[in-house]
Amino acid sequence: MESKNLWAPWRINYIQELTDDEPCDCFICHYLDRPGDDDKNLVLWRSEHGIVLLNHYPYNNGHLMVAPARHISDIDEADEAELAELIKLVREAKKALTMVLKPHGFNIGMNLGRCAGAGLPGHVHIHIVPRWDGDTSFMSVCSDTDVISQSMKELLDQLREVSIEHNLPGL
Ligand SMILES: [Zn+2]
Repeated sequence: MESKNLWAPWRINYIQELTDDEPCDCFICHYLDRPGDDDKNLVLWRSEHGIVLLNHYPYNNGHLMVAPARHISDIDEADEAELAELIKLVREAKKALTMVLKPHGFNIGMNLGRCAGAGLPGHVHIHIVPRWDGDTSFMSVCSDTDVISQSMKELLDQLREVSIEHNLPGL
């Protein structure tokens, strides 16, 4: 049977970039500080304790990330209010993706520590990756980055539309 593992060779540049940078150079905090750049940064939602954005280096179409507004490296450091809001944001993001993309399933999880594949180990985040039957090579057939960023902006707009229509995120 064919392996269903996600693999993402295009992410290697991203991982190397981050490794070369200072540890305090956190793109999530950078985005948090610049609400005026939410379109460019593909930020979908901001809430009191969290932020939801499209992953610029997606594992699959519609790959969202949910992160706390505070720069913490592990859920151990999150307080009750942050934890509750993060999981609610996951639920709401899953709803929005379901309405727009109608996936067959989801991978939802965290990579904690570099050995576990965390591209940004300093700022904990939850990945939400929509899955479709037979989707294992979505990105490898779509190597033109302009095409990808264009489709991600369109997707962001579609997610914002359903958010307004359905009053998401309902926290
Ligand atoms: Zn941060």
